[in-house]
Amino acid sequence: SRYFTIGDYPQGTPQRELFELHETELPALEDGEVRIRNTWLSVDPYMRGRMSGVKTYVEPFELNTPLEGGAVGQVIESRDARFPMGAKVRHMAGWRDIAQVKGDTLEALPTLEVPEQAYLGVLGMPGMTAWTGLHLVAEMRDGDNVLVSAASGAVGSLAVQLAKARGGTVVGIAGSQEKLDWLEAHAIKAVSYRGKDAGQLSADLKAACPEGFDVYYENVGGVCLEAALDNLRLGARIAVCGLIARYNDDVPSAGPSNLDVILIQRVRMQGFIVLDHWSQYPRFLEEVGPRVANGEIDYEETIEDGLERTPDAFLKLFEGTNRGKTLVRL
Ligand code: NDP
Repeated sequence: SRYFTIGDYPQGTPQRELFELHETELPALEDGEVRIRNTWLSVDPYMRGRMSGVKTYVEPFELNTPLEGGAVGQVIESRDARFPMGAKVRHMAGWRDIAQVKGDTLEALPTLEVPEQAYLGVLGMPGMTAWTGLHLVAEMRDGDNVLVSAASGAVGSLAVQLAKARGGTVVGIAGSQEKLDWLEAHAIKAVSYRGKDAGQLSADLKAACPEGFDVYYENVGGVCLEAALDNLRLGARIAVCGLIARYNDDVPSAGPSNLDVILIQRVRMQGFIVLDHWSQYPRFLEEVGPRVANGEIDYEETIEDGLERTPDAFLKLFEGTNRGKTLVRL
């Protein structure tokens, strides 16, 4: 098995050299264990938090120990009758080509007519996050005007489409022309934040949706949050899903200068972690799965080929050079 480790917790944006590739001979399977050939690995922004050496809502990665992450693969050897040879599974032993884990940590892949890697993206953790934030946390209602930051990413691209299907004006903030074009092709009003201060971004959001927003789906923080606050309607709800603009900060940056909007507009702002809502995954799959399978919901992927490219795929999340769900194909 080949796998990645880190030898140190990085300061600031991680460098490519941080990630070390190793090779090891796996021991024979014990009772209850399964060996899997991973076919797809997921890279996700939350992994940066696990590289900081402090416990947040998950434990930090252990140094010099195989990194972990979402993965999909096929069983190649099994001592757990629930997962026979050839079974397709999802699990958390990513960042490696061959995984050997307890059967209890595996999920059989659902059987919708979608490519298997969709269960790491639009129908996996990021998709479930979009649905949870919009419906369970922000309690979006039909006709609500919705603003989404990092709107063309794995989470954002589903959030905007789910919101659009419910009738209001949907505006997405994104960083590059290709991302803005993708949003507009899906009838989402697109606004770039690149090179703008909060005042400029706020004016652009106002132009895109003069009535203001009922829901802000927050993935970024920084100027996006400040500009969004300026454009909220009375009783708006903010689902705080992520704050990626801060993940590489060594020193926490100051919060928005216009926080008084929360008071004046009676805004509810709530953070959430998708894992707390995982019992709802079957409901999500039932609602969203068929719409992905029949093409009503679209999704993009950024694919890196080969295990050695996993760190490069991960770093793209912070460079913004990814689109849709970022994956490694083995
Ligand atoms: P994405 O696919 O959206 O990739 C990250 C994107 O973030 C980049 O493409 C880039 O897009 C944008 N970005 C990166 N750095 C910055 C920056 N400094 N300022 C502004 N934008 C930046 O990732 P995901 O969809 O997987 O995750 C989106 C968010 O959701 C993250 O904040 C993540 O932590 C959070 N999340 C939270 C979960 C939860 O349970 N609460 C679960 C899963 C994800 P662009 O070019 O448009 O700037």
